[in-house]
This record gives sequence, structure tokens and C-alpha cells, in this order.
Amino acid sequence: MTTVYNFNAGPGPIPDPVLKQAQTEMFSFEQTGAAVMELSHRSAPYEKIHFQAMKQIRTILDVPDDFDILFLQGGATLQFSMTAQNFLRPEQRAAFVLSGSWSEKAEKEASAFGSTTILASTKESQYRSVPEIDLSSAPEDTAYVHLTSNNTIFGTQLQQFPKKAAAPVIVDMSSDILSRRVPWSDVDFAYAGAQKNAGMAGVTIVIARKSLLASGSDALPPSISYKQHADKDSLYHTPPTGAVYMTKLVTDWILAEGGIDAIAEAASKKAEALYAAIDQSDGFYRGHADAGSRSSMNVTFRLPDEDLEKQFLQEAADAGFLGLNGHRSVGGCRASLYNAVPFHHVEVLIDFMEKFRHRHS
Ligand SMILES: *Cc1c(COP(=O)(O)O)cnc(C)c1O
Repeated sequence: MTTVYNFNAGPGPIPDPVLKQAQTEMFSFEQTGAAVMELSHRSAPYEKIHFQAMKQIRTILDVPDDFDILFLQGGATLQFSMTAQNFLRPEQRAAFVLSGSWSEKAEKEASAFGSTTILASTKESQYRSVPEIDLSSAPEDTAYVHLTSNNTIFGTQLQQFPKKAAAPVIVDMSSDILSRRVPWSDVDFAYAGAQKNAGMAGVTIVIARKSLLASGSDALPPSISYKQHADKDSLYHTPPTGAVYMTKLVTDWILAEGGIDAIAEAASKKAEALYAAIDQSDGFYRGHADAGSRSSMNVTFRLPDEDLEKQFLQEAADAGFLGLNGHRSVGGCRASLYNAVPFHHVEVLIDFMEKFRHRHS
């Protein structure tokens, strides 16, 4: 097998020990003689995985007792409208902070169910930074404020969560969940597809204040009611058992690595090294994000021209690097440094970038 350096933006890499554990258990999970995916979601072995995954997310992120953790389906994308259907009343507005393509999509999907408003946006400056956010400026009829903590496509990240004001705060954490601590006093509802930092595609993690969930609409089909999923411990219908299992293994791995502070420190170390290489390249590599908004998860950069970018991406692919192309909507290059990316892979990338630059400048 050839060595690859996986910098995919999503689905992204999964830690080696997690894949190995899944491989070991594939034909017989514990003493069952069956794969996890072959077990009833009502069976004791599956329930153990399900509740252990929830418990370990709670431990890792220090989630308070007055929050529920849910495992849903439909990706982060379904949350864009499901949050509106549960929490946006006809006489209210949902207030969006636009910090990239995903927040635009979130606003668009929510607007199918009610009124929305834009609280702040950095669209005019190509989303090079995260907007200044003052939540006390939200209109009085705001049902909730929606933020994106990490902008996967543009490579920017909320450095600090804004202080909560009157309205509940809902945060799309799809691309930085489990990479840093969350100040739960300033967040009421967080959601994330698992496939970037928390396992594989198929399960969407929701972490939400119970009082907010309880305030949700009663006029919904149970399958899209958070209350219903919370009441049934996310076993209202068949959960994505294989994906929940992978998330459980990822939380085992995070705990073994030393928990969230160790993971956050590793993330900073990787990002700092790569940004330093970009900044010290005499302008050959140019970061897209403003220095004060740089993401520790997705590092976006350009080369002097598009021909060089094409050549860079081709040579990188030949050398075993996966996923260094920027999102198809913006072009350029992007290295995603999710939790499963080892520091060594970043060193190999930096070395490759240095050599490429010396050959071409
Ligand atoms: C990837 C991503 C999404 C979309 O997730 P799906 O699971 O594909 O629906 C939404 N928001 C952010 C910030 C993302 O990075």
C-alpha cells in the first residue's frame, strides 16, 4: 500500500487506531458474532455504543447537564431547515451571520420556512474574515441567531464566540467540533455532521440546551421534532448505527490522546507550522484568510497564478497528497488539518511546498 497524506476537507481522515479497531471488530463485535451494523439498534451491545458515544462527547466537550446530545441524520444540511421548523415562529425572524458559503446555505434553507435577516456579513470582502458580531444588535423579534464556527471553504474560524444576548444562539460546528472547547454559556444549540472531525458521514451530532428544545414547535411530524428525538434518546427510529459506532471509536481515541486540551494544542501546532510556511514564502504562497480570522482546521492559500496552482496540485497528487484542491466554488488550494491529520503529515506537506517553491520562483 502506498503512503498517502490525507488533507481532505470532508469526508476527512479518520485516526488510524480507529480504523484498525473497526477492522478488528468488523466480523464480530465483542462476543456477538456479528458486525455492529448487523445488530438490532434495540440490542444491548448497540445501546452500549450509543450511550457511551453520547457520554464521551459530553465528557470531552464538558457539556453541561442541562443540554441534550442527539444523533440525527440528514447531515448538517438538514439542520439548516430543521432548526427553523422547530424554533422559528411566523411572527419572528431568524438572524444569520454570513461568514461563508455554508452560512449562506443555512440562511437559504431556513428562509423556506420563515423570515430571516442578516445580522452581519463579510461577503463583500470575499469572506477573508469572520464578521464582527454584536449579538445585542439582533432585532427584538429574533427567534435565534445562527453562526458558523468554522468556515470550511474560506478557511476562517470564529476565534472567540460572541457574548450571548437575548436570542438563543445556534452554531454550525461541522468542521471544528471536537477540536476545541466550547463556551456553553454563549451557545444554546450546536450541530455538526460527523464526517470531518467526529467519524464518518451518516450521523449528525446535535448538542442543545434542554429548555430550547422544549420550546420547539408542537405542530411538526415527530421525525423532524427535536423534542421527539430527545424524548426517545435518538432511538425514535433506526439511528445510523455504523456511523454512531465510528463516532464512539473517535471519542475513545480523543480521550486516549489526552482529551480536548491535548487535541486543541495539537491543532494549533499543525496550523501554526503551515501558516508560518506560507508567511515565510516571500509571497509565493498567499493565505486567503486575514491573519486574525485564520482557521486551525482549513488552511486556504493561493499560488502566483492559476497555471502554477494546477501544476502544484498535480505534483502534490502524484506525491501522495489527497484533497489539496480548494473547494470547487473558490479554487486555489486548501489543506484541511482535522484531528486525524498527524503533525508529521503537515511537515511532509511543508517540505513539499518548499521544494515546489524553489523550483518555480
Ligand atoms: C461540510 C459542512 C456542512 C455540510 O454538511 P453535510 O453533512 O454535507 O450536510 C455544513 N456546514 C459546514 C460548516 C460544513 O463544513
